[in-house]
Amino acid sequence: MEDAHDDGWVNFVVERDEKLLTLNIRGIEATPFAIDMMMMSEQVYAFADGTLYVTRGMMDFTQSDIELQFVIAHQLAHKIKKHLSRMKRDSLIGKIIAITLIAIIPRSSGPFGNNDWNSSKSSNEDWAFSKDFEREADYLAMYLLANAGIPTTDVSEFWRRVNEISGSFYKTIHPPYSERFANLIAIDKEIKAKQEAGEELKPNKFSGTGFASDGNRAGFILGVGPGMGYARNDLTLGTESKFAVKTDFLIGYAPSNRTAITWSNKVLWYDSVGITIASSTSGLGITYFLSEDTHANFISAVIGFNSVFAPFEDNYESSTGFGLGIGVGREVSKNWIIGLDATWGKPASGLTTFGIGVHFSHLWY
Ligand SMILES: [Zn+2]
Repeated sequence: MEDAHDDGWVNFVVERDEKLLTLNIRGIEATPFAIDMMMMSEQVYAFADGTLYVTRGMMDFTQSDIELQFVIAHQLAHKIKKHLSRMKRDSLIGKIIAITLIAIIPRSSGPFGNNDWNSSKSSNEDWAFSKDFEREADYLAMYLLANAGIPTTDVSEFWRRVNEISGSFYKTIHPPYSERFANLIAIDKEIKAKQEAGEELKPNKFSGTGFASDGNRAGFILGVGPGMGYARNDLTLGTESKFAVKTDFLIGYAPSNRTAITWSNKVLWYDSVGITIASSTSGLGITYFLSEDTHANFISAVIGFNSVFAPFEDNYESSTGFGLGIGVGREVSKNWIIGLDATWGKPASGLTTFGIGVHFSHLWY
């Protein structure tokens, strides 16, 4: 920096393509984030919390202006998409893992096999970032570059070189570089196709990947959780009402992020004169989320069988008949749902069951 003038203009002397350039720049407020070049740090990293940091080690490590621009764009993308706060909010498991890992990972194991990383501000960021957030940050970063007029073709090798100097922990919490490499090439193609067609360079909606347990509800889905409730049996002899422990189970397939088709099983367990009775409603289930977002309300239904049996007794005659259930609930935190169900069944003539219950389940998808 040569000299700063009172009117806000600053003269920078920079080296670009081995030529010295003098840039006369006037600062304007373009983003709400400060960028901090950590000139004292030899470590190779960049991260973003309230501020966006790039170390001198990272500046040395990048082999071109475009790579450094990509690093900044990637961090900016994390900021724009609010990944850090979303991760903290969404994932109870994420928080538990983060707390556990911070406690057990020795200070010497850094993301790039470096030391002292845990004590740095990057720890929060990188512990918390899921692989899907990394994919999304790469995706958006390419569009940020393209919109700034920066060619997006030559950045795909970057993650391979990062991978070479990375420690094993970094590798477990980031997508494999081969995937990121292939993604960057695909995104570059997508951008080029839009440029050639004269289309606006707007990112498509980010959809993550199509694998099981990929963070989208669409695809394989499995839910298990405990709960409690109340069971009522209307017998010809009289009515029995009991406090019950509940278990809720579902497994199936979601054709979209909103709808899941499952095999569902809801059991109310209660004590009847010293005998543990299970009143189970199972069958074909459907769960419909009112939005694609993580924090969505849902309605559900199950139709099939209702059985009353005593699983721990030898001489108990079980009864099975028609049963159904309806429910409402909410995904309160990513992968965690609270559901409220009512079930009704006619397992035998002269016996009608009715149950209500709440359950707190983990949903794998
Ligand atoms: Zn990242």
